[in-house]
Amino acid sequence: MSQDMSVKPGNGLEKIREILEPFGVAGDADWMAVVLFARNLVAEMDLFTEDQKAALQIGVFRRMGKKPLDRGRFRSVVEGIQEFLLDNAKVDDLRNQLKAEREGATALYSEMSRLVQDIQASTQVRESNIQRMGADTERSIISAGSKDEVVRKLRGMITEMVDQARAEARVWEERAHQMERTANFDTLLSELYSRRALDAQMREATERATLEGRPLSFMFLDVDHFKAVNDTYGHVMGDGVLRVLAAIVSAHSLQFSGYAARFGGEELVVLCEGMDEAQALARAEVLRQDVAKCPFVPQCEGPCPIAPISITVSIGVAQLAPGQTTSDLVLAADKAMYAAKTGGRNQVVGYSTLSPGHSS
Ligand code: GH3
Ligand code: MG
Ligand code: MG
Repeated sequence: MSQDMSVKPGNGLEKIREILEPFGVAGDADWMAVVLFARNLVAEMDLFTEDQKAALQIGVFRRMGKKPLDRGRFRSVVEGIQEFLLDNAKVDDLRNQLKAEREGATALYSEMSRLVQDIQASTQVRESNIQRMGADTERSIISAGSKDEVVRKLRGMITEMVDQARAEARVWEERAHQMERTANFDTLLSELYSRRALDAQMREATERATLEGRPLSFMFLDVDHFKAVNDTYGHVMGDGVLRVLAAIVSAHSLQFSGYAARFGGEELVVLCEGMDEAQALARAEVLRQDVAKCPFVPQCEGPCPIAPISITVSIGVAQLAPGQTTSDLVLAADKAMYAAKTGGRNQVVGYSTLSPGHSS
């Protein structure tokens, strides 16, 4: 079909009818919806690259080119669109993110139920302790020879009660700490904050930066060719590689009081409060070099048939500009990271160095 199928949003229904005319389905609502989706709606989605959008359009119109345009053809076109939507790296990332969220919520829920059970058990223990102490006190008063002896015994019991309460408080404090970790840290990469915690932190940091007029920068880090690591060594090894990477990123970010989090999948980020882009770039460069130098060494029983696995990362760095939102900041760092990919990977790129075409 030789229609104008380029991605140009904003064309009206008349144009859609015109496209459908040669197929003899100009007024058909279903086919109109297909063309509206493939031609207009997809063009507005940031989820897909321009190449992917073009591939979808070509695929849809190729399928439509085969006659007759009956229900069977319609289903085949819809299936094609479905495949496109599901078989997409970004959609994959969203699915992984959702999975991580669900795992986090499940872990938190089971920890909370355990906590509630333990609180109930502890209340029972405390009640029986108080009853026992009440009975002991009565006995002491009856059997004690002097007031001094009663006071001494009471003081002993109170000290015992306070010690018990202190020990219990320490345990509860540790439990609360653990709950906080489950709620705020990633389930697989436990040194890194979760995406949910990051979102909240970013909102607060943006407000602080705006109020106090201090710089705020953001590193967006993506593993190079990570799919190949999974394909070569398997997903479990891939997870091990990610853990080592998380440890390196976390150690670096601790050095400059950054906030290291897992953005999703194999994408990690560091929020750098009080740092401008140049400072964050310098830190990111040291981090990049360290990642390339520290391979993941598989743990085997006996001699290991797998050699250490080295990876590299591409890092994009951006600084919050006046009037920008947190999403703008993430998008800018993401764009810089993509520039690092297209520039050959294993490198750090600052958003401010991108050409206007790149940074628009
Ligand atoms: P590029 O250099 O362009 O980033 O190449 P890539 O292969 O890293 O890019 P792509 O986005 O195609 O692949 C990312 C892969 O990361 C795909 C996905 O299966 C994998 N991945 C995401 N999360 C995890 C995880 O938690 N564990 C493991 N083992 N793999 C993951
Ligand atoms: Mg990625
Ligand atoms: Mg990658």
